[in-house]
Amino acid sequence: MIDLALDADLDARLVDVRRLGRDHLRPLGIEADRNGAPVPPDHPFFTTAWRMGLGQPLGVEDRTATRGPRTAARRGVVVAEEMAYWDRGMSVAMPGLGLGGPPLFGMGTPEQKEQFLAPFRDRERPHWAAFAMTEPDAGSDVAAIRTSAVRDGDGWVLNGAKTFISNAMRADWIVVWATVDRSAGRAGHRAFVVEHGTPGLEDMRHEHKMGLVAYESSSFTLRDCRLPALNLLGGERHYAERAGFKGAMRSFNATRPAIAAMAIGIARAAYDVARDHVRAHAGHPRAQRMREKLARMARKIEAGRLLCWRAADLADAERPNEVEASMAKAFAAAIAQEATGLAVEILGDGGVTSDGYVEKLYRDVKAMDIVEGTGQVQHIVIARRLVGLPAT
Ligand SMILES: Cc1cc2nc3c(=O)[nH]c(=O)nc-3n(C[C@H](O)[C@H](O)[C@H](O)COP(=O)(O)OP(=O)(O)OC[C@H]3O[C@@H](n4cnc5c(N)ncnc54)[C@H](O)[C@@H]3O)c2cc1C
Repeated sequence: MIDLALDADLDARLVDVRRLGRDHLRPLGIEADRNGAPVPPDHPFFTTAWRMGLGQPLGVEDRTATRGPRTAARRGVVVAEEMAYWDRGMSVAMPGLGLGGPPLFGMGTPEQKEQFLAPFRDRERPHWAAFAMTEPDAGSDVAAIRTSAVRDGDGWVLNGAKTFISNAMRADWIVVWATVDRSAGRAGHRAFVVEHGTPGLEDMRHEHKMGLVAYESSSFTLRDCRLPALNLLGGERHYAERAGFKGAMRSFNATRPAIAAMAIGIARAAYDVARDHVRAHAGHPRAQRMREKLARMARKIEAGRLLCWRAADLADAERPNEVEASMAKAFAAAIAQEATGLAVEILGDGGVTSDGYVEKLYRDVKAMDIVEGTGQVQHIVIARRLVGLPAT
């Protein structure tokens, strides 16, 4: 059963997020969009937010370090929706471990957690981490990654290229997925922590996107990038015991519900603009048609939110949530696109003018179907699981 109540702590957190959202996230997101440039890491807002304990809302935690009932995933989806409501681009631009957190928590040794979490304990200056799987020729088909990892003495040497990696440019470190044996497919995958400034981490550059401008998506090259043995996440034993790719899948299952909730946040923002418009045009000849569109948006937003909460609650209960996380992600991204489209329709020409907010949401929402596995890929995962086959 899904308990729909929010605890007092989370309620109080949402009050902070709303204030921050209204005063900073939305204005900064709009400013970044107009400038066509991400909000720089030294922007004073990031320091203020970091000192308040606010970062990227993915709802992942170090399970080995928490006791008692776990609520991080549920809290994560609730906060993720709220932050994305104010600005999804800004919610990813926020400092924090982001997608780099789950592999470190899930696979990292105590020594690695100690070393790589250390910068994030400094609350004076904001810090970022990143997660790099995608390559120019390997997106949905993650088994096709080519970045190679070769053992060299007591360390490793990485060669390859990664693309469209969120926050990579400003990250203290990036979890980079590479292969020790391409012919072994996913079993050959290894995750390495590549720290900022490591020689061979080169050609870091921005990719320009149609929306979500507030954070950087970066591409980079690894050229004879030499790493100490400690930077292989989990150490060699981890991979001898489990296939490397399982670590990546666990990362995705942990973060998909929050990414889905972000899509719901964008949909809700579009809904609010549309609702205000409908209210202000009650005497319009097509007012009833507009209200019906609004009702369609509201219904789907509610359903999407419940799927996100269900997937998160399973994660908190440490129960398998692969199908539910994929359902939440596929459904939320699709209905968020539909909702922003309906908002554009309801506003008419006001929906497409670049002075209006809905036009930005329409551009922002598209990538939600692509990040963390496209809609088609989620459907493949769900379909295979429903008939008892492995996800891919
Ligand atoms: C804003 C943004 C942020 C991102 N951040 C990160 C990040 O931080 N780290 C990271 O590693 N990556 C990141 N990515 C990359 C993202 O994970 C990939 O774009 C995504 O996995 C899709 O890969 P692709 O773009 O290569 O598309 P492709 O895999 O080439 O897919 C192209 C099209 O084909 C479809 N398709 C592919 N395979 C199948 C199939 N078997 N059956 C049916 N249809 C199929 C897809 O659904 C899609 O419509 C980000 C991308 C974006 C847009």
